[in-house]
Amino acid sequence: MNKVYLALGTNIEPRDVHLSEALNLLEANEAIVIEKRSSIYETAPVGYLDQAEFLNMVIKVQTLLDPLALLDLCQEIENKLGRKREIRFGPRTIDLDILLYNQENIKEDRLMIPHPRMNERAFVLVPLAEIAADEVMPNVDRTVKDCLTELPAEAIETVIKWTNNHTA
Ligand code: AMP
Repeated sequence: MNKVYLALGTNIEPRDVHLSEALNLLEANEAIVIEKRSSIYETAPVGYLDQAEFLNMVIKVQTLLDPLALLDLCQEIENKLGRKREIRFGPRTIDLDILLYNQENIKEDRLMIPHPRMNERAFVLVPLAEIAADEVMPNVDRTVKDCLTELPAEAIETVIKWTNNHTA
């Protein structure tokens, strides 16, 4: 079994439904078991700013899939949930990123692990630190918790725990 962390993000309504559907599709694959889930966080967009706020979360999975097969599955789920790739870093129904795959450093055309931008992204590191604070990032040899402390406080403050008020 391989230990993997995945990040999920969405900023098209109904955002929580898109997260649940992505989790269901992952779990429907018999080579995947979801072991832990972070809370859901609401986060300000970065990069392309003129778009709605995101919901983000991170999950820990055990999988028999190799890294590229897992990427194929993630992209299949993104396509199934209707992701449109019109603007880079723009609005998306669901975005699935592979953050860590065991302690491997992978550099291929289609796949870089650890995910190349995760260290700069509070919307990834805050939920990841919730479920994997002591996990070591093999590319920088530092724990997730240490990487998080290097982000500016203003970035971390834009990542806020989300509760579903619609059904409360
Ligand atoms: P994005 O639009 O940010 O979701 O980027 C999608 C592209 O990133 C795809 O073409 C993937 O092949 C590539 N990619 C590289 N590394 C990763 C990774 N660790 N997880 C997901 N996609 C990746």
